[in-house]
Amino acid sequence: MPAARRDFRSIWVYSVLTGLVMLMVLMAAWWVDAQQQQVQAVTSRAQQDMVPEIVRLQRLGRNLLQIGHEGDRLLASESQAERQNALLLVTLVSQHPSVQQEAKAARQAERAAALLAEAANDLARSPQGRAAWRLRWEPLSRDLTQAADALLTQAAQLPGQDLDALAQVARRARYQWLATMGSAGLLLLLFLWLLHRRVLQPLIGVHQGLLRLQAGQALPPMPTAAVREVVVLGEALNTLAATMTENELVRHQLEFQAHHDSLTGLPNRRHFMAQAYELLHRLRREHRPALVGMADLDFFKRVNDEHSHAAGDEVLRQCARLLREALRAEDLVCRFGGEEFAFVLVGCDAPDGLALAERLRHNLERHRFTLPDGQVLPGMTVSIGLAPMGVNGLEKALGDADKALYRAKDEGRNRVVLEERAVAA
Ligand code: GH3
Ligand code: MG
Ligand code: MG
Repeated sequence: MPAARRDFRSIWVYSVLTGLVMLMVLMAAWWVDAQQQQVQAVTSRAQQDMVPEIVRLQRLGRNLLQIGHEGDRLLASESQAERQNALLLVTLVSQHPSVQQEAKAARQAERAAALLAEAANDLARSPQGRAAWRLRWEPLSRDLTQAADALLTQAAQLPGQDLDALAQVARRARYQWLATMGSAGLLLLLFLWLLHRRVLQPLIGVHQGLLRLQAGQALPPMPTAAVREVVVLGEALNTLAATMTENELVRHQLEFQAHHDSLTGLPNRRHFMAQAYELLHRLRREHRPALVGMADLDFFKRVNDEHSHAAGDEVLRQCARLLREALRAEDLVCRFGGEEFAFVLVGCDAPDGLALAERLRHNLERHRFTLPDGQVLPGMTVSIGLAPMGVNGLEKALGDADKALYRAKDEGRNRVVLEERAVAA
């Protein structure tokens, strides 16, 4: 048993695909939102934490530098007032909250302030000790400068870290976006491929099938469809094609039956007349002669009477075959009725026609009729009347041939008689 082919109703296919597309859009939106949140988090961290921290570091660095600077001024100045002013500034700056909050800086500032206060007192009394104080001040001043440099460098580096984090988020976002777009593209390609293979191609197949049916040609095999409606359409087309083929066969059979005699298989009288009209028209156009003949089996009734009707049927069948075989392909023949046959000999003049009819008569006479029950009957004699196809049409020629046939019967049967005027000509 062949495996059942799976197909889906178009509404399901449509719903599933719509769901997939919606899911993809939602996922893409969710991703974009997550990336936006990351960017926002980095940005707000920069705003809330980084900026105040930079300000704090810069302020502390500047204060330490100022302590160093005021210390240098105090030890360089000749004026007592200026030294007091520098000492006041050092004291103020070292008490500043930004310095006090940072333990190491507070310690350095305190040491500097203490040393400078001592130096200021000493220099007020004996200014000669300046060089010795400078030597003591120098390491402290260097420490202050180094600490300030370190703080200012740290402040300068802070934005760099956050910018790195931002760049990382942006890079990740780019990859995620590429992955989303790539998979969406692949899904779209798969969808388009499926649509083409399982819906469009079958529909094109159905359309071509319809065109072929319209042109009376055989239906090619339908491509496999996945959508139920298209499958049903293909099946309906196949059924339609099968019905049309069957109808065509029946029509041919009916046409054959309508045109042929069921016993002998020869054309019947009506069909013969239609064929003969057409043929004689053509022959007249081509200026070719033709003879019309009527043949009637002699004493045929006796076969029925002495044997059986079935035997008579068999004799009729075999006579029809002999008649067909004696004539040429382009000649016409029919069972005119009962044991009578009519024929048209194409391109024959009187001598040709007589010779052909004689041969037929001779063949029937010599033939031995073997019946289905094995019985063998002797040959049949036949009377034949011939008439040329004149200008007066088919019916007239047939009438003349019939008259010649009657003469053949009258003159003793088993003979061929040519119509009188044809003999005279
Ligand atoms: P004749 O020489 O004068 O033509 O004599 P005949 O006996 O051939 O002619 P007649 O007209 O007396 O008889 C024709 C017979 O043909 C009568 C009829 O029963 C028989 N016949 C006609 N059609 C058929 C048929 O289809 N089958 C059979 N078995 N006999 C048929
Ligand atoms: Mg007869
Ligand atoms: Mg007869």
